[in-house]
Amino acid sequence: MCVKENIEQVRNRIKKAALTANRDPNEISIVAVSKNIPTTKVLEAIDAGITIIGENRVQELVKKYHNIGKKISWHLIGPLQTNKVKYIIDKVDLVHSLDRISLARELNKRAGAIGNKIQVLIQVNMSRETTKSGIYEEDLFTFVEELVNYPNIQVKGLMTIGPHTNDTVAIRECFKRFRDLFEELKAKELDHIDMQYLSMGMTSDFEIAIEEGSNMVRIGRGIFKDK
Ligand SMILES: *Cc1c(COP(=O)(O)O)cnc(C)c1O
Repeated sequence: MCVKENIEQVRNRIKKAALTANRDPNEISIVAVSKNIPTTKVLEAIDAGITIIGENRVQELVKKYHNIGKKISWHLIGPLQTNKVKYIIDKVDLVHSLDRISLARELNKRAGAIGNKIQVLIQVNMSRETTKSGIYEEDLFTFVEELVNYPNIQVKGLMTIGPHTNDTVAIRECFKRFRDLFEELKAKELDHIDMQYLSMGMTSDFEIAIEEGSNMVRIGRGIFKDK
């Protein structure tokens, strides 16, 4: 199956999940995750209507950015080393993986240096798996408060990766808790944050994520893998 057909299928599944939850499918953004995928395939996805590409490594993002350019939106979804911020600051529209103050400081500095602001999501490690990045949920509010000191950072929402399990009940429970956290933070109406995006759901769990309120799904294999 080709990229275009995969995308069609993913769109149909998103639509179905949204309708199950009485939601408008159009409020859900697709981030096509192209890690380890060649530029030619990424271009096929863009031809099929994809407008956001997510990369989890800086080097790969920069390389593809140079081939493809600004006709689509670039998101960095993976762990970001502080010393690599300078390579992506003028290329990326959204960083999904803000997880520490030292990174906030560097993003703030580099964005300021080019007279810009940088939009970010805070990554939360809901499943507490040691292999995953992200702050713990109990640290979220304190973390958000500290970000008031970094005016070039615009917090646009939250990101999480679902637990590594086939247990759909556990996955759903995790996403539900994350949605509650998102709503709680949003309800505070803090001036320095704008809670717009809830980034949760990948190939294996995006339908559950949508049913639980996700409005941004990050899909790699479901789009780029031959089936
Ligand atoms: C790879 C990756 C994805 C996409 O995963 P698939 O299972 O291929 O859909 C989503 N989010 C992050 C952070 C990733 O690293």
